[in-house]
Amino acid sequence: MSRLITRIVALVFAVVTLAAITPLPSDERFVEPNSALQPVFRVERAMPPPVKAPPERIRFPVATRRTVALPEIGIAEQTPPSAEVVAPLPFIAGDGPPMRGTRIAQTGRLDVYVGLRTFTPEQIAAIAPRLEELLRGNEERFGFQLQQRVSIAFYRPSLAPSKDTRGIAYTEEGRAEVYYRPNEDIERALVVASHELAHHLQAQRYGDDAQKRADIILLEGLATWITGPPWLAKYGVARWKERARQIGDSGVPLRLLNAQRYGDNIAYELWASFVDFLIERDGMEKMHALYVSGRGREPGSADYQGIYGASLNELANEWRVWVRS
Ligand SMILES: [Zn+2]
Repeated sequence: MSRLITRIVALVFAVVTLAAITPLPSDERFVEPNSALQPVFRVERAMPPPVKAPPERIRFPVATRRTVALPEIGIAEQTPPSAEVVAPLPFIAGDGPPMRGTRIAQTGRLDVYVGLRTFTPEQIAAIAPRLEELLRGNEERFGFQLQQRVSIAFYRPSLAPSKDTRGIAYTEEGRAEVYYRPNEDIERALVVASHELAHHLQAQRYGDDAQKRADIILLEGLATWITGPPWLAKYGVARWKERARQIGDSGVPLRLLNAQRYGDNIAYELWASFVDFLIERDGMEKMHALYVSGRGREPGSADYQGIYGASLNELANEWRVWVRS
């Protein structure tokens, strides 16, 4: 019964998302939300909320050949290299939220579960420390540490709410799920897991309320940006600018609003490069301010004009020049 409800809610959410995404104009025709989008938000509020925690999905996730070595955090520069004063690895006591399947490992901040007909318990046990490493890399880039223990589970794809879904972060519940078949590339699954953990960092930093109304360009763009080098490694590039250039060279227009037309991965990567551009332009604090100014999932709902003194259209023009610079 509850599974049926979950499916119906997921379907409603998918239809609402599709309806919101399909007729979007190009960046050039973008209209500032404060004049044009208000009625849309009123309608949105009247509708049932999209599940308890709106699923944040990644489809066709990218792979990484090998995770790059991630720097350790928490060791001050001036600390003498003595075994007694080395800062301990971050640790959050207690258990994460329970999940279906078997709990295979507890790392410093993660409870790691596995279900049936996916990777083996032995494989999951082997990668558990790397999940913690990926989390630490995410925290370094984002400048924020996980505050509450998160549970993450690996399940077979048939348990995913939709066919192409590879990962979901239920941020309000402190859970994440990753969907892979046995014998699939576990390195890909690690990148997906890292992306879902990035959503937990967003939610814990900005709060559930801000997370729920985050502009999807920033929700997914920033989470992908936080995931960083392991995601980029698949493309043999080190920077988001280079990845955006590759996408542009492949014939995909460098546009932000209709980017999902070319698949979620392309959209997430273009949005990550846009986030990278904004951070390079005006720093992290403005990015945080922009993120919490979101007024709904629609791309472009954040207050670009108010925070950056330029409309999304103007910023997108600057971003395209930056990509080609
Ligand atoms: Zn995501």
